Amino acid sequence: MGNSDNKSVKIAIQKDGRLTQDTVSLLRAAGLSFENYNRKLFVKCRNYPAEVLYVRDDDIPYYVASGIADLGIVGQNVLRESGFRVNTLLDLGFCRCSLVIAVPQNSNISRASDLRNSTIATSYPNSAKEYFKENKIPIKIVNIKGAVEIAPSLGFAHAIVDIVATGKTLVLNNLRILQKISDSQALLITPNEVTSKEKAKIIDDLKVKISEVLGGKDYEYL
Ligand code: ATP
Ligand code: ZN
Repeated sequence: MGNSDNKSVKIAIQKDGRLTQDTVSLLRAAGLSFENYNRKLFVKCRNYPAEVLYVRDDDIPYYVASGIADLGIVGQNVLRESGFRVNTLLDLGFCRCSLVIAVPQNSNISRASDLRNSTIATSYPNSAKEYFKENKIPIKIVNIKGAVEIAPSLGFAHAIVDIVATGKTLVLNNLRILQKISDSQALLITPNEVTSKEKAKIIDDLKVKISEVLGGKDYEYL
């Protein structure tokens, strides 16, 4: 399985979401010329040995870990939640957000340990479980896919674990941050083991080009 063509790389990116615009701009600034997403899930770069796969962000860790894609751009939060092990080439600095525990504004919960034996609603069950386990706080998880912020006011969770950037959505839903679990930003990832020398060369070349666009922060002359 994996990629049979060794002369080009497949780059998995989010087809339509918060990561998409910055991802596409970054790849174009790095010199790649390719079509925007328009129901075609797979587009060839016109001037570079690469194909862009337009997918759901949640699927990117699997595509990269399995070698179906040779590169991916995905949020750290999604990578962590997936549990897949990949090689992170670069921190890309966009889509910054944090995974936090939030509780109703008027609740008297003042620290994470106050949540002992309570119910937590989240779309990040693995990350949430890991946090509470590490901190030896027994809790129950309710896994819901979206609009997690609504759970406390509907009365089926005492707290939520969710992604926040500005915190506006929390305020709108009468929630406040209790505790930050982790920070997140977009990452450039690649499989732990790249199958061919040719691909490794292209991956390296793209990493250098992207680093240069980012301002050379992670770029060193060898
Ligand atoms: P998909 O349909 O691809 O599954 P999605 O709805 O799961 O998309 P988006 O809302 O587009 O995902 O968010 C993609 C990623 O952007 C998140 O996983 C996170 O890394 C980051 N993100 C989420 N919220 C914000 C925000 N408010 N500001 C910046 N980045 C964010
Ligand atoms: Zn998603």
